[in-house]
Amino acid sequence: MAIDVRQQAQQADTPAQAHEIRDVSHTTCCVVGGGPAGMLLGLLFARQGIMTTLLESHADFDREFRGDTIHPAIMDILNEVGLAGRLLETVPHTKVRSVVPPLPGPTQITVDFAHLGGQFPFMTLMRQAEFLEFLAAQARQYPAFTLVMGANVRELVESDGVVRGVRYQAADGWHEVQALLTVGADGRFSRLRHLSRLPAPIKTSPPIDILWFRLPKQPGDPEGIMGGFNMGRGLIMLERTDHWQLGYVLPKGSDRQSPGSSHG
Ligand SMILES: Cc1cc2nc3c(=O)[nH]c(=O)nc-3n(C[C@H](O)[C@H](O)[C@H](O)COP(=O)(O)OP(=O)(O)OC[C@H]3O[C@@H](n4cnc5c(N)ncnc54)[C@H](O)[C@@H]3O)c2cc1C
Repeated sequence: MAIDVRQQAQQADTPAQAHEIRDVSHTTCCVVGGGPAGMLLGLLFARQGIMTTLLESHADFDREFRGDTIHPAIMDILNEVGLAGRLLETVPHTKVRSVVPPLPGPTQITVDFAHLGGQFPFMTLMRQAEFLEFLAAQARQYPAFTLVMGANVRELVESDGVVRGVRYQAADGWHEVQALLTVGADGRFSRLRHLSRLPAPIKTSPPIDILWFRLPKQPGDPEGIMGGFNMGRGLIMLERTDHWQLGYVLPKGSDRQSPGSSHG
């Protein structure tokens, strides 16, 4: 089911209804959002023995598609925090070491990640749900870490102009977490940013949309990453362990035009 996260964030404007709070818990740091940013921050805090509660609105990590490529620079960061080796050992993935972008004309260019140097000269294709489950499993090893799934943060706890935690809605009702530090890691349409009346940092976006979808792999299919661009549109094909991940690139907003008018 498609969820309009922009709309969800705007719902934060709705005045709070009186609701019964089932319990109030206390922590040092409350992180809202279990994406890559929130999960890694929660893990790093907990590893330092800082009591951390992470609240994620989804019941599992198989949330909206956010891409499955881990770039060499990200792998370097994971290595710095001691996680890269374990990630590659334990989570299924494919490694892409070079890409030949389909260009018109006879000239061919090979993008070879080896030129980057470093320990991870490849792009890793890994299901983001499994990547996040891996981070969650690492964080859970620390007693200072608490992860609450299905916790939809709807309100800030504020007093004297200071944010002192959040209230979230779960399947069993409302809960409150009071914290010394509250971090909004709830993504690009952050409700926490909105509730905190902070200005939106992102004012522009690339003039393209990408429609992502999957197709099953067939015997005899080629391997690796492929694609093609023509007349401002293109198709990216990423080989995954058991399927093809395809991205149809098109001018921003053109998917909403009628089929007749979209081919100009
Ligand atoms: C279609 C798409 C494809 C992408 N592909 C790639 C890629 O291949 N490689 C790459 O490196 N980057 C990719 N990106 C960018 C990447 O997804 C982002 O940089 C990354 O997800 C940002 O991480 P984050 O933790 O800040 O936010 P997010 O990943 O958006 O995580 C935010 C989390 O907060 C949770 N949340 C939101 N509101 C609340 C709330 N009120 N209460 C509790 N929880 C809440 C959400 O459920 C979510 O789990 C892609 C992005 C998109 C949109």
